[in-house]
Amino acid sequence: MAELKAIGANTARPVAPPKDRPAPEQPAPEQPAQDPAAALRYTLFASRFDGPAPAAPRSLEGLVDSGNWGGFKTKFDKLSRPKQLEAMEKLSPPQREKLSNATRSGEVKSKAVSITLGAELAARSTWGQGEGKATVDNFKRMYAKGRVEVSEKKVGGGWAYADPAKKGSERGVKTDSTIYLHPTLLRSPDLLASYVAHEGTHALRMKEGTRKPLFAEETDAHVAQARVWNQLSPPSKRDGAEGNYPGVSAKDFRNLRTMTEAYVNPNADAGRAAVRAQVERWYAP
Ligand SMILES: [Zn+2]
Repeated sequence: MAELKAIGANTARPVAPPKDRPAPEQPAPEQPAQDPAAALRYTLFASRFDGPAPAAPRSLEGLVDSGNWGGFKTKFDKLSRPKQLEAMEKLSPPQREKLSNATRSGEVKSKAVSITLGAELAARSTWGQGEGKATVDNFKRMYAKGRVEVSEKKVGGGWAYADPAKKGSERGVKTDSTIYLHPTLLRSPDLLASYVAHEGTHALRMKEGTRKPLFAEETDAHVAQARVWNQLSPPSKRDGAEGNYPGVSAKDFRNLRTMTEAYVNPNADAGRAAVRAQVERWYAP
């Protein structure tokens, strides 16, 4: 506070006059600028208040808009899982698009961001707003309860699987499950969204005890997956798009394309038949 004292000494404070006498003329206060040393001290003192106002706590939306990915990830990861889901719902579609691109490029590496973003993309798809709504809602509840995990393990060569809590339980048995996602999916939110549809289909049916026989069950799951992925990544945009899916091999990408593009055949029955043929090749004993 040395500067403060120096300035105080340099700018004489007028003494309040007694009330019964008119105030004497006050001499003009000495200007700090007249004393170079005092002027410098004054400038240093005032500069403490001239800087930008301290930054207000920034919203997640603001952090996305400014591309502050480090700040976004830190803040997002600290939220509880239900709050993460809420925060992802609140972002605008362009903000989610921007976040998707940052996830794809590796600027954002967060399991929580990728999973909730994938869930929200699935929820906003035509499928998620219609026949898939209960499936996505159930997926979100599972995430909130810690029943969506990331695992390197591939079951049946797939990138995701729903693991029933009641082992060996078959059709007609109601059971909770845990969904495991391969880390590759975390880099591609639209692909992850398609697996929300696929594994979510199995998980909801396990919960309700309505699983179908394997082949029919897998066909339904693949069709739901195809609907979401076809919408988020239309076939017209897929040529040479392998590079948009970090970690996905050309062969895996071809498989996904074959299965999902068949379903967008203008003739729905033919499209479905093609999907069934593909699924049959994968799952027939
Ligand atoms: Zn499946």
